[in-house]
Amino acid sequence: MSETITNWAGNITYSAKELHRPYSLDAISALVAGSEKVRVLGSGHSFNGIAEPGPEGVLLSIAGLPPTVDIDRTARTVRVSGGVRYAELARAVYAHGLALPNMASLPHISVAGSVATGTHGSGIGNGPLATSVREVELVTADGSVVTVGRDDRRFDGAVTSLGALGVVTALTLDLEPTFDVEQHLFTELPLNGLDLGLFGTVMASAYSVSLFTDWREPGFRQVWLKRRTDQPLPDFPWAAPATEKLHPVPGMPAVNCTEQFGVPGPWHERLPHFRAEFTPSSGAELQSEYLLPRGYAVDALRALDGIRATLAPVLQTCEVRTVAADEQWLSPCHGRDTVALHFTWIEDTAAVLPVVRRLEEALDAFEPRPHWGKVFTMPAEVVRGRYPRLADFRALARELDPAGKFANAFVRDVLEG
Ligand SMILES: Cc1cc2nc3c(=O)[nH]c(=O)nc-3n(C[C@H](O)[C@H](O)[C@H](O)COP(=O)(O)OP(=O)(O)OC[C@H]3O[C@@H](n4cnc5c(N)ncnc54)[C@H](O)[C@@H]3O)c2cc1C
Repeated sequence: MSETITNWAGNITYSAKELHRPYSLDAISALVAGSEKVRVLGSGHSFNGIAEPGPEGVLLSIAGLPPTVDIDRTARTVRVSGGVRYAELARAVYAHGLALPNMASLPHISVAGSVATGTHGSGIGNGPLATSVREVELVTADGSVVTVGRDDRRFDGAVTSLGALGVVTALTLDLEPTFDVEQHLFTELPLNGLDLGLFGTVMASAYSVSLFTDWREPGFRQVWLKRRTDQPLPDFPWAAPATEKLHPVPGMPAVNCTEQFGVPGPWHERLPHFRAEFTPSSGAELQSEYLLPRGYAVDALRALDGIRATLAPVLQTCEVRTVAADEQWLSPCHGRDTVALHFTWIEDTAAVLPVVRRLEEALDAFEPRPHWGKVFTMPAEVVRGRYPRLADFRALARELDPAGKFANAFVRDVLEG
């Protein structure tokens, strides 16, 4: 490949034989049918080799497909083409008086890439972003176009599919009437005295809640409540209201963040933490995340508190969120109401990896599933053992891609064994 292509973080340089940017469905079909190994690149926001095709493979970017966003106001659905990012989708949906139920911390990511990895936001009652998907259109290994909808037996394998089933060329998503959200930020929530009951109350106190800490001290430095204005304003006696605008990473400019101090605004300008027109997060970083059954939340937080001295030197911020269980076979939230423990590390792989290993040991008893798009070192057999419907996914991958055209090293690790 003559061009150097890296992921957003810059820690992965893709080693494909060729890069292709087809601009039509027919061109994608012909390219896939005529290639031996293919991986699709979304917006490149994953932190590991999940999108890596390998030196003999083709890296296929579909960012050049016409960015279709077709909204059906009566049915309250939207059909988007595979390369569209949440920022452009959300603006179009909002312009029609409609909404997506939730968003991740940033709107810069592609819809197809996000749902492929189980990307999520926060909220006791909010499933991962893939929960909104009602139909997926794929170009499969022989170049044919396959559409899988909710009533299809393959559906629960077809959305959070790690790019292993084919090229997602379009997705249809459910919408709801638009709503406004306010962000109320608090500081210094103690870990002392936090039991599972109080954790549940804190995390359920608004539509979407995030806790942040750098683990330099016990407890949480920031609490972000995202309240829908059609729901009651909660009492929040456990922490003090913030007196200035905050960024989740200490020292970073809060101007990059969505509006705070309870100023109401449309869902897509409040549910993400970061504004579409600014660099999200710190910009110089690696990330890891582990998704655990919610019942372990407080024990897991105490385990993190126990290794604060190990975490803190390489940690920019840790975010705690909740996600509702879903049905996708490879979703890290499959069948489990979840607490998600996220880590934004410094941009130094050699320094971060030993800490990630130590962190995984500390969380092991709590059955963590790693985020598919972030850095992890857990052995593949351990990860496989945490997915009760893995055999169904393997069978689906064999059905749609018998020769493993879309299976790279990352996917083979997950599927084999
Ligand atoms: C700053 C930052 C903040 C983040 N915040 C969150 C967060 O709040 N919540 C969260 O859960 N995650 C978060 N993530 C992780 C991110 O959402 C995931 O890595 C997601 O996969 C990114 O989407 P992408 O389009 O960049 O995917 P890529 O990294 O490009 O690809 C991911 C996978 O999807 C596949 N894929 C992409 N497009 C297609 C397609 N059209 N057809 C078939 N397969 C495809 C790829 O082959 C690959 O396997 C964050 C990442 C960053 C960098």
